[in-house]
Amino acid sequence: MINTPTTFAVAKLAELEQRHQRRRLAPTDRHDTIRIMRPTATGARTLISFCCNDYLNLTGDARLKAAAKNAIDRYGVGAGASRLITGDHPLLGELEASLAALKGTEDAVVFGSGYLANLGIIPTLAGPGDLILADELSHACLMAGGQLSGAKLIRFAHNDMADLEAHLSAHRANHRHCLILTDGVFSMDGDLAPLTELTDLADKHNAWLMSDDAHGIGVLAQGRGSTFAHGAAVNVPLQMGTLSKAIGSYGGYLCADKAVCDLIKTRARTLVYSTGLPPASAAAALAALEIIKAEPEFCAAPIIKAKRFCKALGLPEPQSPIVPLLLGDEASALAASAKLEGAGFLVTPIRPPTVPAGTARLRFTFTAGHADADIDQLVEHVRDLVQPAAAAE
Ligand SMILES: *Cc1c(COP(=O)(O)O)cnc(C)c1O
Repeated sequence: MINTPTTFAVAKLAELEQRHQRRRLAPTDRHDTIRIMRPTATGARTLISFCCNDYLNLTGDARLKAAAKNAIDRYGVGAGASRLITGDHPLLGELEASLAALKGTEDAVVFGSGYLANLGIIPTLAGPGDLILADELSHACLMAGGQLSGAKLIRFAHNDMADLEAHLSAHRANHRHCLILTDGVFSMDGDLAPLTELTDLADKHNAWLMSDDAHGIGVLAQGRGSTFAHGAAVNVPLQMGTLSKAIGSYGGYLCADKAVCDLIKTRARTLVYSTGLPPASAAAALAALEIIKAEPEFCAAPIIKAKRFCKALGLPEPQSPIVPLLLGDEASALAASAKLEGAGFLVTPIRPPTVPAGTARLRFTFTAGHADADIDQLVEHVRDLVQPAAAAE
């Protein structure tokens, strides 16, 4: 039997196809950030997207575009090297200062992406002999960073503080350091982590809490993110996030104390051995942070839109602009998405392994620029998907 990368790929794709887990890229022209164009057999079609993470529609904002163009004229297109060699162009320091100011931390470090940030931060702080406790619904790159670290990695039940405490009681004493990992806003469910309770448990058991605010920054608590969304600001010592969702650009960051940031800049392999963030991305992110700081009410708009949708459908009030509609198996999620696409709406189905088996879903995301009339129209097409699910409960 010949065994090549091609024979392996053909067999694997066939197996995934059978499980409705094969995925395909669809070229998408997001010309105004809400209306997108997709080529189809019968010519290009325009769809209203309700599945983009561009919560403030800043990817197409004139101020960000101008900032990016100026940065290219001034510094060129690429960073040219890793930040520790010659890739640390001046915009990166400015961006770090702006992020630290928004989050109220001493310092910040930026990375090439959020995924790279987690792959760099976690193994710098934990290694063999250490313990990592991660919420089971944490983003794939938190888990990947945990695995890469070589520490003992245990998943605790989603937002279940009793389960977390049981693991701390059972395992903490046998390890040098303990890191607790969680999304601040869960990316596929839209609910928030109980950061106050998590901080208390971390303190009690001498563990370090790290939150991933990819879906919080720019959106929750006047744009300051999930650590500010629980009454008093929660003092999470390690706050990472991305510049590629509400911020509208590209890149990842960690906000933390200066010493922690200095250690990350010295040791995190995805910073040391990977090229610095391009100048245009840094400049666009800086411009976005200026807008967020100047227009806190604008940051609240995506959640207001999500609330309108949920209220009309009798769904629980959302805590973020992410609204999941669980449909169960992959085929149902694909069919529901195809039905909405027929009506002019783009809502990509989310399937395992992105979400646990049996929880395939539609994941609606709302942005500041969605027209109420478009949301109301969407509601009419989603209504009959909601009723059977509610009846089955
Ligand atoms: C999108 C996302 C990331 C990855 O960020 P990128 O900048 O896109 O690499 C990390 N964590 C969470 C929770 C995310 O949703």
